[in-house]
Amino acid sequence: MNAPVYRGSCLCGGVKYEVTAEIEAVSHCHCTMCRKAHGAAFGTYGSVRRENHAFTEGASLTRQYASSALVTRVFCSVCGSPLLWHQKGRFSGWLSFPLGSLDTPCTPPQQKHIHTASRAPWFAICDHWPQSES
Ligand SMILES: [Zn+2]
Ligand SMILES: [Zn+2]
Repeated sequence: MNAPVYRGSCLCGGVKYEVTAEIEAVSHCHCTMCRKAHGAAFGTYGSVRRENHAFTEGASLTRQYASSALVTRVFCSVCGSPLLWHQKGRFSGWLSFPLGSLDTPCTPPQQKHIHTASRAPWFAICDHWPQSES
């Protein structure tokens, strides 16, 4: 079987990861926590089942931060790049990683904007992807 493989890394290159499944969903998250974590208007993530993502180098450089009771974020302790987040509860079998950290090409056919109710007032969404306020 030929599982699709995406590879990514953090800014300093110390942490590398591999994704061995097609990305199930792509979301641009406008919640205040993703905005803070990325220092940007929104965070863009691809979601896969947890068993389809693995750190291949530098796992010991990663640190975790529980940004809420349910969500844990993993980032590189050297350069600060966000590397993934996962949550407890209904979607605990899944994780989401920032598409901006990919080193291999990725052209997702479907994307969506979520948590647009907390969108940065200085940013206008000008594309045609579906939007959800929460
Ligand atoms: Zn790094
Ligand atoms: Zn978010």
